Amino acid sequence: MQVYFLGTGTSQGIPVIGSNHSVCKSTDFKDKRLRVSVWITWDDNSIVIDCGPDFRQQMLASGCQELDAILFTHEHSDHTAGLDDIRPFFFKQKNDIPIYGHQRVLENLKKRFDYIFETENKYPGAPGVQTFEVINNQHININKTEIIPIEVNHGNIQVFGYRILDFVYLTDVKTINGVEIDKFKGVKVLVVNALREEPHHSHFSLQDALDFIHLVQPEKAYLTHISHLLGFHEEVQERLPKNVFLAYDNLKITL
Ligand SMILES: [Zn+2]
Repeated sequence: MQVYFLGTGTSQGIPVIGSNHSVCKSTDFKDKRLRVSVWITWDDNSIVIDCGPDFRQQMLASGCQELDAILFTHEHSDHTAGLDDIRPFFFKQKNDIPIYGHQRVLENLKKRFDYIFETENKYPGAPGVQTFEVINNQHININKTEIIPIEVNHGNIQVFGYRILDFVYLTDVKTINGVEIDKFKGVKVLVVNALREEPHHSHFSLQDALDFIHLVQPEKAYLTHISHLLGFHEEVQERLPKNVFLAYDNLKITL
């Protein structure tokens, strides 16, 4: 399995428009972060988790040729705003693109991208999607692989993380119910959000993320959904435990 970090930034990305913060002005490529998303390939499968406003740029940079599905974590714009840009995959593959999400997320997308879901007189240039509702404690099957949804909380909002084989991807987490912890057994690589040092009402701080990593004990952990307020990539990385890494855009890992 290969995991390609398409974007590792928080909702505004780094640099933030109009910001004079030193991290936003950094020339280190690891300090430039598009909105958060990963591209995952295994066997003949190719999926992305979330599809934010930088999706087009990310697909071009990664060289992704085919898209079998999109798994959505939740409906916030930094995770969904790029949905229209699946059009080239739809035209090339000549099939509706399967999208997976909580029923609430699918309803939200139907409102915001109504023309994609139109059934009568649909504009021919619009993409097509096939929706699949994700229900907690029910596996998703993509070809022959079982994917396990993991329910987490983003402040008051329910969010799904996903386990694919020995890989878990979580973003926009602030709290996790104890019953979900069993789903992390034997995980080799965990990706989890770490916004900044200071506490935040709906995202893990760096310490929250490190405490959670300590609890679930993956072999390796990668931090994502990072704000410029966390600091320079290189400086933050030096302070982390030896099995914890700050992810950066275009990082590829193999499991
Ligand atoms: Zn987010």
